[in-house]
Amino acid sequence: MKLNRTTEQVKQLLIGKGIRPSSQRVAILHHLCSVTSHPSAECVFETLSPKIASLSRATVYNTLNLLANNNLILALTIEGDEKRFDADTSLHGHFKCNQCNELYDIVISKQKQTAILEDLTDFEIDKAHLYIHGTCKKCLRKKKNLN
Ligand SMILES: [Zn+2]
Ligand SMILES: [Zn+2]
Repeated sequence: MKLNRTTEQVKQLLIGKGIRPSSQRVAILHHLCSVTSHPSAECVFETLSPKIASLSRATVYNTLNLLANNNLILALTIEGDEKRFDADTSLHGHFKCNQCNELYDIVISKQKQTAILEDLTDFEIDKAHLYIHGTCKKCLRKKKNLN
């Protein structure tokens, strides 16, 4: 889900974790909070480098790892070793479309999670990595219209 955080809120998040809020770190986390695309490090670099001339690939990779290690963002391993980053750290799953490669957020409701995952009725979940692969609504509609 999109988080719509201001740069000031992002700064406070970093300070709260004891991380120095350099302008590049703030820009990277702020960017992640404003997109729903779950970008890869390469994608973040490509989007931000035209706006921040001094930004290096290494800074982007290091910052994303730093943020993930401090639980400010999630590092998702979808396929192979391609990592995608998500500023929404609340409990949710992901649906990856095999046709358009889009990554969708799936709501996992706290009350219903044990209903979906029946064997976990007496367990308490801290973190969940739920990945579903398939064809998304948009692509299914496109396919139907072609037939
Ligand atoms: Zn699709
Ligand atoms: Zn997500």
